[in-house]
Amino acid sequence: MSMVLCPNCEEYTEATLGVEKEVYNVRGEPIEIEAEVVICQKCGEKIFDEERDSRNLEIAYDHYREKHNLLSPDEIRTIREKYGLSQRSLSRLLGWGEITVHRYESGAIQDNVHDSTLRLIENSENMQKFFEAKRNKLPPYTATRLEKRIADFLQEDIEQSFQVCFERLVSHQHVDLTSGFKEYDLEKLKNMILYLLKRLDGVLSVKLNKLLWYCDFLHFKETSVSITGTQYVRFQYGPVPNRYYFIIDIMQDEKLLDKSEIPFQTKDGTQQGEEFTALVEPDKSLFTEKEIQVMDFIADTFRNYTSTAIKEKSHQETAYLKCKDRDIMSYENAKELSLSLTK
Ligand SMILES: [Zn+2]
Repeated sequence: MSMVLCPNCEEYTEATLGVEKEVYNVRGEPIEIEAEVVICQKCGEKIFDEERDSRNLEIAYDHYREKHNLLSPDEIRTIREKYGLSQRSLSRLLGWGEITVHRYESGAIQDNVHDSTLRLIENSENMQKFFEAKRNKLPPYTATRLEKRIADFLQEDIEQSFQVCFERLVSHQHVDLTSGFKEYDLEKLKNMILYLLKRLDGVLSVKLNKLLWYCDFLHFKETSVSITGTQYVRFQYGPVPNRYYFIIDIMQDEKLLDKSEIPFQTKDGTQQGEEFTALVEPDKSLFTEKEIQVMDFIADTFRNYTSTAIKEKSHQETAYLKCKDRDIMSYENAKELSLSLTK
């Protein structure tokens, strides 16, 4: 090690590094750390070293933060940078002293309430609420930029939750009798929906899910595999693709289809129903000739059926009768379907 001036020996001596337990007082609390110290080789005394001392203090602060579950300076900087704000802008937005964030990022220990606030705004939705209430604290240019940034994060959150939901959808599917021995193919399902909507020039939601079911089940009856690998759940009002509304939401989000409320007739009088129309052409290249044939046949067979009529017909199918509400319907019973292509 280098030569240092030992105040005890009053001369330059050789010094070594040692480790020693030291107790620092952090916010009135004793925090013990393994401190690095410089020791004079000649007299064995500790020599004060400013740089090393401030480093030890930092370590004590880290221990304190860890003990009290406070954000580290790095974590605080990361939250600030997420929103592209300067230290000063963030301080202003939060209504703190101008240099407060600067102090925290430089290692000063934050106040507990400030810590909670920082954790809160880490979440984009909370930040948006905060921002809406305090936007006048920021210069207009900064406010506009931050607003856009928050909106981007919120959009990302939505996409992420879509992704999670989608992964759940796919991972819960199996290539067996619940899926018609076909791997789940969301692209194909979306295009089957578009195909039927185009061919029938718009379809009510409650009718569409039964058309999809008939397509997959009839194709299974004819060829022993379904078209889309979709699982269908038995509901009181008929068979419905698993996570049907999630899929419709995706399609609406991707501007593939449009929803509108229209009145329709049932036994109990007029009701409001959702009608879907296709906004884009289906990709027919995804389908085999046989699959197209099945979809055309189902669309044309049920063209003039009301939602109630197709619901009642589906209720008489063995596949429907043989399971209970909320069950996944087995393709096994597709062989007893009342429809056949060859007929
Ligand atoms: Zn000495």
